[in-house]
Amino acid sequence: MSEKRRMYYVGFCRICGTGPLGLRECGGCGAVVVLCDECDAVWTDAGTNSDFAAKPLFAQEGELPCPHCEASLIEKPSRWAHKKTIDATPWVQEALQAGTLEVKRGSALSPEIDEE
Ligand SMILES: [Zn+2]
Ligand SMILES: [Zn+2]
Repeated sequence: MSEKRRMYYVGFCRICGTGPLGLRECGGCGAVVVLCDECDAVWTDAGTNSDFAAKPLFAQEGELPCPHCEASLIEKPSRWAHKKTIDATPWVQEALQAGTLEVKRGSALSPEIDEE
């Protein structure tokens, strides 16, 4: 497959300034979190900080544990969340309805950490 991996993202990272904030589906518990595709900053939801400006959870020495179940967000079966998964994630839908979040479709910078 030469086609770039598709991901849904919700803006760009305020921490590194360049990375798209992708919606990442945990392979362990199925939770959708926000993962910067550049610096691996992680946010669990948009609830307390809709602009993702502060307090991310960072990757630790190459590992990126899910904040909910501690499964790796990098290793399979974790993946960039599909649209139907995003549609079924309450915090995303609440933020969309509140107008604090916008989901866009784009290409992942790091296809090697994706699956399929
Ligand atoms: Zn970043
Ligand atoms: Zn998890």
